[in-house]
Amino acid sequence: MGLSRATVSATVAQLMDQAWVDERAATGFAGRGRPPTRLALTQQAGIAVGVDLGRTHARVVLAHLGHEVLAERAVELDETWQPSAALEAVEELLDQVVAEAGVDRASIVGIGLGLPSPVDTTGHATSLTIPPEWVQQDPARALAERLGVPVVVDNDANLGALAEARWGAGRRFTNLIYVKAATGIGAGLVLDGRVFRGSSGSAGEIGHFTVDEDGLVCRCGSRGCLEVRVGGHALVAQVAHSGKGISTVAALVAAAQAGDPACTRVLGDAGETLGVALAAVLNIVNPDRVIIGGELGTAGELVLSSLRERLSRHALASAVRSTSVVQGQLGERAEALGAVLLVLTEAERFVAP
Ligand SMILES: [Zn+2]
Repeated sequence: MGLSRATVSATVAQLMDQAWVDERAATGFAGRGRPPTRLALTQQAGIAVGVDLGRTHARVVLAHLGHEVLAERAVELDETWQPSAALEAVEELLDQVVAEAGVDRASIVGIGLGLPSPVDTTGHATSLTIPPEWVQQDPARALAERLGVPVVVDNDANLGALAEARWGAGRRFTNLIYVKAATGIGAGLVLDGRVFRGSSGSAGEIGHFTVDEDGLVCRCGSRGCLEVRVGGHALVAQVAHSGKGISTVAALVAAAQAGDPACTRVLGDAGETLGVALAAVLNIVNPDRVIIGGELGTAGELVLSSLRERLSRHALASAVRSTSVVQGQLGERAEALGAVLLVLTEAERFVAP
């Protein structure tokens, strides 16, 4: 920042007097001169809240500005949820985490909200894949008005990418693709260390890549989308005739991990289909890491090995050589943690109550 040592010391002393920052244990320092002091923001500096509103769940994470999670809660939602019911569920979860962490609700500086929809540059959700009542609406404003706190909104896969890049499997990688493979399929791109949203916020919507021109009709109106083949409902439908009585992706993954051949086949095939779609992305973006998150990501090598095989068959050899394909480290928490990071990094996009 070009500030003198004396100015920095005086400013830090002021912040420490007000208990906004405290000293942390020093990390290894091998340089010359006086070793640096590590400082972090404290709970006193404020609270950030991350909300992940998925198609079938709501999750709320409460953290202080020093990046420490203080409390976290999640509930399942009916897939046909209405915006008012979802906001009510979020407010209930927020009350619970505030009580659990023992913090003052007035100390919340902002809420990050993740939605399973592209979000345009004005914060409007633009997808046909969320409740129609919210399309072209401003969910951040609705939540900000309800809770009286500034809110910033983003697509859930972008948030997963942000969290994995900062705290998970994407640390130390500059260009990465995070795939959220759950009920829906989406991807977030981090390029040169920043989330890339495109000119209208729909970058990374790989769920509606055409993988089968004559395939089943998707809810977006197109045919044979990636999501129609490897989205949660599609995977469960594929084992419907195997007599296993499997109704969720989690159960499918558990059965495959226990050695069930039908479920193993479904996951292997899903990895292949995902691999063909991602090969095109690899050729365009040339990432140094691909992270598979969401429920399908929890299947690990059952999906990843066939995915890698398809990438090496369909993407340019140089693009394949320079990347690694791994499972997400943050699991189902990735999107809500990314929403916390959004509060910490993108305050300029807040919608005030
Ligand atoms: Zn589609």
